[in-house]
Amino acid sequence: MDRINEKVRLEVEDISMVDTHEHIMSQAERNEYAVDFSYLFATYASQDLVSAGMPPRLLEAVRLPVHRFLKTFWNCHSIPPWIIPEPEREDMSLEERWQALEPFWEAIRNTAYAKQLLIAIEDIFGIDDLNRETYSHVSRAVADSRKPGWYRHIMKEKANIGISINGVRTTDVDRELFVPVMELDHFIAARSRVELGYLEEETGIAIHSLDDLVKAMHVALERYVDKGAIGIKSWLAYYRTLRYDKVSRNEAEVVFNRITSHLGEGPSWLEAKPLQDYMMHQVIKAASKQGYPCSYTPASMQITRT
Ligand SMILES: [Zn+2]
Repeated sequence: MDRINEKVRLEVEDISMVDTHEHIMSQAERNEYAVDFSYLFATYASQDLVSAGMPPRLLEAVRLPVHRFLKTFWNCHSIPPWIIPEPEREDMSLEERWQALEPFWEAIRNTAYAKQLLIAIEDIFGIDDLNRETYSHVSRAVADSRKPGWYRHIMKEKANIGISINGVRTTDVDRELFVPVMELDHFIAARSRVELGYLEEETGIAIHSLDDLVKAMHVALERYVDKGAIGIKSWLAYYRTLRYDKVSRNEAEVVFNRITSHLGEGPSWLEAKPLQDYMMHQVIKAASKQGYPCSYTPASMQITRT
């Protein structure tokens, strides 16, 4: 029986995977920002730290290198922006940053997100724990991994991933490893004249009516398709309900007209909801025309052509 199990395991390990959901920075960005242990806390594990009581601004101070990346990434013309607080300090040494992290890390080390980090550093760097004895060793290993071919080594040779679907707001991804998904949320959730201005800048379409907005969205989508995007992803469920009601064009237009005269931050999301609902249906319709099937996950939606 054991021999059969072993045979099955080897066969399964040989099957190359399609990784359908990633947000992986480019290798050039990684070379700039992955400089020490704090790189491990770029995403979900950091939320566990905050849940364990770590003040968000202290977290940003501890993960300062990766904080700079997150600020750049989320500050592009995305609507609505992800909120990343300013670091409490910007002058902490590696040791001070570890000491600030340690009590919260010890509180979360058994969560699923923390376990993933521990598995990764053991599997990739051969370091069997993250603690006060090993943090500088982990930091050195992360910094030393900034070498050509690193992603290829991890994703192809170690993980046997055939291709990854990557949502990083650009179609300019390494096509040997990734295919891009793009988003049209900024066309759905625009709430002020300033935000419409960003859409005009992106598409070259002057937006003075609801029809113009829909047209601009189509132009953006066609460009993404031309540049090889295989799907459209929406992050809006992080900010609003997934219930996109069927609203009349007229209801959406009333909201649009209010937005065009708004120079400030715009109406509340509840007031803006009919326009968002209408635009989401337009996006799905346009994406379906491109042959993208539509799938939902709890926090986001991905319309992907396979
Ligand atoms: Zn995602």
